Amino acid sequence: MSIDRILERAVNGERLSMEDAVKLYESDEVEKMGEAANTVMKKWHPEPVTTFVIGRNVNYTNFCDTYCRFCAFYRAPGSKEGYVLEDDVIFQKIQETMDVGGTEILMQGGTNPDLPLAYYTDLLRNIKSRFPNIWMHSFSPAEIWKIVEVSGLSLEDVLSELHAAGLDSMPGGGAEILTEETRLRVSRLKITWEQWIDAMKVSKKVGMHGTATMVIGFGESFEERALHLQRVRDAQDETECFTAFISWLFQPENTGMYKTKKLTARDYLKNVAISRLFLDNIENFQSSWVTMGPEVGKKSLEYGCNDFGSTMMEENVVSAAGTTHKVNTNQILTLIREAGKIPAQRNTKYEIIRRFDGEESAEKDFVMQN
Ligand code: SF4
Repeated sequence: MSIDRILERAVNGERLSMEDAVKLYESDEVEKMGEAANTVMKKWHPEPVTTFVIGRNVNYTNFCDTYCRFCAFYRAPGSKEGYVLEDDVIFQKIQETMDVGGTEILMQGGTNPDLPLAYYTDLLRNIKSRFPNIWMHSFSPAEIWKIVEVSGLSLEDVLSELHAAGLDSMPGGGAEILTEETRLRVSRLKITWEQWIDAMKVSKKVGMHGTATMVIGFGESFEERALHLQRVRDAQDETECFTAFISWLFQPENTGMYKTKKLTARDYLKNVAISRLFLDNIENFQSSWVTMGPEVGKKSLEYGCNDFGSTMMEENVVSAAGTTHKVNTNQILTLIREAGKIPAQRNTKYEIIRRFDGEESAEKDFVMQN
């Protein structure tokens, strides 16, 4: 069955249904979907600019009591291989980020049952007193809910306290697929899809915002993917809590799910395009070059993405599963230009800080380190 009519409707600004999304997932006409998604992207972003943020991932602890089957990063509480970074190490990493013109710190770790709320609020206050200009885009919903459990406070109280201490926004990691079926199968102890959505909605209520994510390749059905998109779209309709949407493929290597069939770059690009067409209320779509590699990342700019994500000075979670693609700022500039776009550095709120017109390069480049 032709998908032309569905694509035409989406390009004309009509909302797609879950049934439409399933039909798109069933189709192999990926290039057509990309073309339509690109047209929709240009309505949001008429200028040929692709943004990126200079930021660093800081994986402050790998202790985790959630034991997701797909995760190669965590260590059980009490493990000799577990760690919690010293505050001074974290400060040093932030300093290095600022030294290369970075603006964003994405602190993420396991759900560590031994860290009380005061650990987070003290750390945030100490960071902000040393680095008042750094944007703390940190702690995903699963970590937030662990703090709720450990503190005995409400979700709203925990988020309010974190925000007051210096948390600026929340990354939407841990959404994976927002359905009960897949979560029970791959991450039985993780927060439910409702809790993930609630954390994002309440973060908006207390004055922050966040991003929405999606990971495909756990063996989920097309219907589940469509339901994931529907749930994200509904939350956005209700609260406008998401500034951006980011999707990537599950990397089965080195995980408890290593036998799972690995999806292809084509599957990724199809998902990017369908998401852009379905999520008509989210402005920014990030490319996932960290997992997909720079070339596919570049290609995704023709499939609905307007943003190249973060320079990601560190990425330990994905690299623990064996996939890390390291690029520096000047490489990002080159890749964006090769895709025919003008690179521009943005902040976490997607405000442009600096355009790199012509052949201009970043004065302060850096080499990645893990
Ligand atoms: S994905 Fe996150 S919550 Fe799940 S085991 Fe890994 S660190 Fe823990």
